[in-house]
Amino acid sequence: MQLSFPEDDIAVITLDHPEKSANILSRSVLEELEGHLNTLESRDNLAGLILISAKPNMFIAGADLREFAASLDAPDDEIVAMCRRGQSLFARLTHLSGVTVAAIDGICVGGGAELACWCDRRIVSTNEKTAIGFPEVKLGLFPGWGGTVRLPRIIGLANAVEMITGGENIDAKEACKTGLASTATAADDLLAAAINLVRLEQQSGDYLIDRDSWRKAIDISETEMGFLAITADAVIKQQTKGHYPAPEKALEVMLQGAFVDEEAACVLEAENMAKLFGSPINAALLNVFFLTDRNKKDPGVEGEFELPKIASASIIGAGIMGAGIAAGNIRRDISVVITDVNRDAMIKGAESALDQAAYSRALKGPDVELAVAAGAMLTASQNDPEIAASDLIIEAVVENADIKRQVFERLEPLMNDDAILASNTSTIPITTLAESLAKPERFIGIHFFNPVPRMKLVEVIRGEKTSDVVTAAAVAYAKRLGKHPIVVNDGPGFLVNRLLFPYLHEAIELLLEGASIKDIDRAATSFGMPMGPITLYDLVGIDTAVFAGKVMAAAFPDRVTENDLLPSLVHADRLGKKKGLGFFSYLNRKKKAQPDPDFDAILKPHLREPREHTRESLQWRLFLPMLLEATRVIDEGIVRDVRDIDLGMIFGTGFPPFRGGLMFWADQVGAKELLARCNEFAAVGDRFIATPLLEKLAASDGKFYDLK
Ligand code: NAD
Repeated sequence: MQLSFPEDDIAVITLDHPEKSANILSRSVLEELEGHLNTLESRDNLAGLILISAKPNMFIAGADLREFAASLDAPDDEIVAMCRRGQSLFARLTHLSGVTVAAIDGICVGGGAELACWCDRRIVSTNEKTAIGFPEVKLGLFPGWGGTVRLPRIIGLANAVEMITGGENIDAKEACKTGLASTATAADDLLAAAINLVRLEQQSGDYLIDRDSWRKAIDISETEMGFLAITADAVIKQQTKGHYPAPEKALEVMLQGAFVDEEAACVLEAENMAKLFGSPINAALLNVFFLTDRNKKDPGVEGEFELPKIASASIIGAGIMGAGIAAGNIRRDISVVITDVNRDAMIKGAESALDQAAYSRALKGPDVELAVAAGAMLTASQNDPEIAASDLIIEAVVENADIKRQVFERLEPLMNDDAILASNTSTIPITTLAESLAKPERFIGIHFFNPVPRMKLVEVIRGEKTSDVVTAAAVAYAKRLGKHPIVVNDGPGFLVNRLLFPYLHEAIELLLEGASIKDIDRAATSFGMPMGPITLYDLVGIDTAVFAGKVMAAAFPDRVTENDLLPSLVHADRLGKKKGLGFFSYLNRKKKAQPDPDFDAILKPHLREPREHTRESLQWRLFLPMLLEATRVIDEGIVRDVRDIDLGMIFGTGFPPFRGGLMFWADQVGAKELLARCNEFAAVGDRFIATPLLEKLAASDGKFYDLK
């Protein structure tokens, strides 16, 4: 951080962390800021102070979360003091003799956005990477350095509530629209524009009027406040389903803080922050942040490699997955050839890929510019040499090993020497598929999840002969598509489906023991899963589930109890949502899952001796088998690190982030307690017998996260 004076009466603080790609507000950076403010406070001829960053696309990425993580156990009064220190430091910007301006190019989030809010004015660059936001709720917190106090005073209470409780960023245009930024300009002109703004404000004196009014309570009527409280609370409850306390707390603090002056509101903010900081949910969500951060830096393989370029990809099989994968490539400027054995399917898949590639979230529909660009990036072709000419070929045909092998046999001889061949299979071992290949070292599993645009996880599966460089290239490629790739070793169900299967299997066991669909699904959703396992069956498709079940039963016969319920559903053509009937009926106007008495008749002949269940016992029954399978996966070396299990389950299945991941949750529960639970359910079946790894950790009071 440097202090300079481009003009006699204009000071500029330039943020530029020398060792990091991002500017972070660590303790030492805050101390530097304090030092510069000491210097500036002694000058009485200051017309203005401008805060700007020397890093392109980056104003400030927020507070130092590693410092946060190290203080999770700090007592409440320390947290209050930490917030108060930050608030008082930033508040000094509002007492300087000159106008303070934050000149923002790129990312300005968290503590960085708070710092900007303590300035008198903000101007933003028109750079498309410019984004301002308060993502603290995603970490189980809210802004604690005055963000909940300053933002409502600058952009109005309703706008601030939306930004802070939602945690989403806004772009330069939105920043100007809400009044958060005074103006937007090209990044190169930012400093000149800021100096100009200082001069204008000095003439008008407007900033002094705002300083004065922002120190007071917010002028809002009781009716307006009451309406805002009710509507915002309803939106938050719908989004958090009661699992995430931070947005509600933020709302409460902002509403109360509106009635008092700035100083009292800051005290309120700090005191309430201490109630969230260090909570189990805060710790779990911080863990998720560190999981993704670790993933961004993980190349997937030890060593350095020169990676083959991937500028083009061919997608074989234009079904649900093929179309989604094609769109993901186009979005990241990788040209695509899409093909299908069936011409109509190829055309339909290409159209779907273009629709997905042109979709704009902001517009909630197609963006014309994206659509035109996408059109130029996509070719639909049934010409083998054209298909085989790409740098990467991803097979996404039906889940049948013979058909997949035939595709490889046809295309492999036509491929370029350093081109990569991949399969999107969800169950078939990569090593088995590689058996007939001339160059198995270039073959790898790149397993996307459905729906491709929404699901962030990609499993990169190494076959026995897959080379390191191909693995590293697949990881880099998945990251380029904006995904979180985890490298796993080959095995039935790889990682995610292998862990999901025991959970789904247990749901059927519970059903056969007399638990209701509603109770089973509620047990899972109240644990935090996005949907219950029975609903998930209908979404995946019962036929697909039966097929996957066979693969798992063949691999792990000791812990799979065969039952005829799923085959009877297939027999009755109740294949799930896609057919309108499965466990539920979807034959209604909105195609929503509704209980179906006809299903009860199908279930009846399969019912066994009933057991008593409670919400808690149902949850143990569902999640213990998943956890035990995870301990086997660790022992077998399927994953490189236990943290990959957590990343995989959160981003591949929606395992609740507020639990920090499956293994993080297990560590919070403790191995001893988990072992006791296994013993409690041992009579249910051998699948509940504790694994050696769990026993070892229970005996040593160890944690999964400490395993090497
Ligand atoms: P899909 O049935 O929607 O599409 C498969 C397409 O492959 C069809 O259009 C079919 O005509 C085409 N095809 C069949 N034989 C072909 C051949 N020889 N050459 C070219 N095209 C051929 O299937 P999907 O759901 O997209 O699944 C595709 C693959 O992705 C499977 O291996 C599946 O296991 C895997 N997968 C599916 C999901 C999912 O949820 N659907 C998730 C992850 C992975």
